[in-house]
Amino acid sequence: MNSPAWVARKRRWFREHWERTHELAACVVCRARPVDLHHLDYGNLGEEDYESLIPVCRPDHDRIHAAWEATPHVRRLGRRTATLVIVLEMQERLARSAAGSTGS
Ligand SMILES: [Zn+2]
Repeated sequence: MNSPAWVARKRRWFREHWERTHELAACVVCRARPVDLHHLDYGNLGEEDYESLIPVCRPDHDRIHAAWEATPHVRRLGRRTATLVIVLEMQERLARSAAGSTGS
């Protein structure tokens, strides 16, 4: 996954993200930086749409792949939907643990 085409595609994604949002890309789960890009869809490598890639930090990227492997019932939803379900569950878990740590 470190082919020149992918490295170039990532560079273009980060430029496009900046042009669209004027924000540095942050992890969709925990807002950490720096981020990897995770594929929602596999198109032609190097030709992915902006919307087919989401920014995630390295630990959350590993967690997404682990959850993907561990949840065949979620995987049946298809890669894009399953990944979004996994990300939502990770966001909720993070919100719950943040609420718990403040004692509320
Ligand atoms: Zn993260």
